[in-house]
Amino acid sequence: MTLGWTQDARDRYVVVSVTTRCNLSCSGCFRVGRGLTDMPLPLFERVLDTLRMLGCQYLNITGGEPTLHPQWREYIRLTRTAGLAPMLSTNATLFDSLSDPILHQLAVLSLPLDAASPATNDRMRCPGHYARVAALVREYLLGEAPFILKVNTIVAAENMAEIPGILDIVNDSRVVWKLFQFSPRGDFSSSGWLSPVSSGQFGDLLARLLESPLRRCRIASLASDSVANYIIVDPQGAVLVPDRQSFKHLGHLLALETIQHLRSFPRAGDISPLDEVLGRHVEGTGGDPHP
Ligand code: SF4
Repeated sequence: MTLGWTQDARDRYVVVSVTTRCNLSCSGCFRVGRGLTDMPLPLFERVLDTLRMLGCQYLNITGGEPTLHPQWREYIRLTRTAGLAPMLSTNATLFDSLSDPILHQLAVLSLPLDAASPATNDRMRCPGHYARVAALVREYLLGEAPFILKVNTIVAAENMAEIPGILDIVNDSRVVWKLFQFSPRGDFSSSGWLSPVSSGQFGDLLARLLESPLRRCRIASLASDSVANYIIVDPQGAVLVPDRQSFKHLGHLLALETIQHLRSFPRAGDISPLDEVLGRHVEGTGGDPHP
């Protein structure tokens, strides 16, 4: 599959990293950008105008940890006002309820959960993380939040045995559960203490989950040898595309030649990054650099 800015409206999806800062340091982090920077409001507004002009319909606000940005709420509001559907990918450490009205303006909220036990999950994220995310998922399942909840899971040798147990936590038709085969990618990732699983092991796990007769949630996946199908705008406005172990720079979003390049991207094929939130299992595509 070629990377593409396709003519299908569902594909008009862009990830904007509003900060490189994060309060965690997960192995396998896909965040992009240099130094510790936040995207300033005037640049965000120009990025939004440019993406709208290019036909973007879904904008994933991420980081680093986007809720560390002092204006993250304003960025969701502006995205909605511009007529784009906002998505937020957060590690969930800085809020403990879904009642914040700004979250109700989202199309999709993505949270990470890596194991069915606090001990393993919290070792991969931070102390208290499991309890917080499990409580947010429970709140979502019991409530009527208008967005889709997406739960991201890194699959490594160290948490592999606990992954089927996550199904009990996320098993609802309104939830999309996305599994990422662990692999370092970009400047901020590290192999740390996690070890990769083979493609065969990853495929077997997916097949087992997809075939589970008890499964009601939707499942998406990203294998480590896939070229993910989305573009990322970093906090300084640079456009990057995932390229296996790293990211390729396309230029600055506001530069004419970058805009022309984005306009001429070939069609991506049959799979949309948004199919995963629209209802069918997607294998080998992308959509979230913040697992
Ligand atoms: S994966 Fe997300 S939460 Fe973890 S370090 Fe990277 S940006 Fe932070």
